[in-house]
Amino acid sequence: MAAQLVRTLPQCCRQILRPWNTWQAGLRSLSTTPVPAEAAGVVSSPPLQTYSEEETMMREAVKKYAQERIAPFVSKMDENSAMDKEVIQSLFEQGLMGVEIDPDYGGTGSTFFSSILVIEELAKVDPSVAVLCDIQNTLINTLFSKLGTPAQKDQYLSRLSTDMIGSFCLSEAESGSDAFSLKTRADKHNDYYIINGSKMWISNAEHAGVFLVMANVDASAGYKGITCFIVDRDTEGLEICKKENKLGLRASSTCPLNFDNVKVPEKNILGLVGHGYKYAIGMLNEGRIGIAAQMLGLAQGCFDHTIPYTRQRVQFGKRIFDFQGMQHQVSNVATQIEAARLLTYNAARLKESGRPFIKEACMAKYFTAEVATLTTSKCIEWMGGVGFTKDYPIEKYYRDCKIGTIYEGTSNVQLSTIAKYIDKEFDH
Ligand SMILES: Cc1cc2nc3c(=O)[nH]c(=O)nc-3n(C[C@H](O)[C@H](O)[C@H](O)COP(=O)(O)OP(=O)(O)OC[C@H]3O[C@@H](n4cnc5c(N)ncnc54)[C@H](O)[C@@H]3O)c2cc1C
Repeated sequence: MAAQLVRTLPQCCRQILRPWNTWQAGLRSLSTTPVPAEAAGVVSSPPLQTYSEEETMMREAVKKYAQERIAPFVSKMDENSAMDKEVIQSLFEQGLMGVEIDPDYGGTGSTFFSSILVIEELAKVDPSVAVLCDIQNTLINTLFSKLGTPAQKDQYLSRLSTDMIGSFCLSEAESGSDAFSLKTRADKHNDYYIINGSKMWISNAEHAGVFLVMANVDASAGYKGITCFIVDRDTEGLEICKKENKLGLRASSTCPLNFDNVKVPEKNILGLVGHGYKYAIGMLNEGRIGIAAQMLGLAQGCFDHTIPYTRQRVQFGKRIFDFQGMQHQVSNVATQIEAARLLTYNAARLKESGRPFIKEACMAKYFTAEVATLTTSKCIEWMGGVGFTKDYPIEKYYRDCKIGTIYEGTSNVQLSTIAKYIDKEFDH
């Protein structure tokens, strides 16, 4: 059909079209050649929003749980800037803190995609609770499961799935986006290390029982000295400092940590010496899909709170939902949320099937954060004055969404990584 169209065009237009039709399109088709379904181990291609029986059950159970057990605490936790102990306890009771952990260690034994659905459902109700669950499942548990020795798994995985929160400690005051320029040192003495330095912005530190700490064992090796240490909360010399007073995500504690001659046995190294940077990159690549799910849930939760109001509120003798000016905005936002969901699920399904997913994970995180920003801002506008008050949850979603453009790699960092992949794809 396209070829037919070109043949009917005058000669001058054909010349202009050629470079695009052959040269550019040729390059793009090289870079985006789809993997045949059989080669990818896929028998058929169901729509992305097709859930397995287990995923459906998980989604519905978490939705019900979040409404019944979390929603009543959300406003108070935000106001007091504190996660309720009952909420933490119930997350463990429901098996949501060890979604992928093997049942032999007391975990739920489910999948990465299920964790993504759990995070999305929790974020619809409270993004702070979602990030507690997200970091535990996508970073901490995964690191222990993939890298732990049998003894480390025995000691930590059963606690992480039943009663212990873990924190991931990479960022420092002077190393944020440039994370691997970190200054925290771990010096070897016989069969132990001494850690000195400090960390910033450590999520869930107020309640964590264990910290995965990235520290450099050999500054002369640069980032190749970075090593991951398991540090228990009660280790002498570890100080968990006053939590930050934040714009949003207030129920999630974010604390600086100080390490003053913290003695850690050699057996507490997770994985290999000098491989910490690889583990951090790997985990954050996966973790970004979790943050995308958090932003997606947040946007959907905010939208779901707002639309009923627009269907009830009457101005000029009509529901405000009935004005075309409103409907077009609502439809635009609903479309953006749908696109965000497809990006997020696609990245999660790619990761789960063992296929390359990093570019798609960055796209999902970047885009969902944008969509959450747009959605929450629009929802406040659609609610008018009441949307601007604390009588409705909309202003909280608006405050909570900002973090999506900052942690686990800022939006600029996502865009730079996406560009790196695009550059490579055209490198033929
Ligand atoms: C609530 C909260 C929770 C957090 N939880 C954790 C946690 O649990 N564990 C942990 O280790 N860290 C955590 N962080 C830290 C978070 O990952 C960092 O804040 C983030 O990586 C950005 O680093 P920064 O704040 O130092 O900003 P900077 O790196 O100083 O960035 C500031 C601005 O400069 C831009 N910028 C920087 N470099 C470039 C570049 N090369 N190109 C273009 N633009 C650039 C950034 O995009 C950003 O807009 C958390 C942070 C917050 C706020």
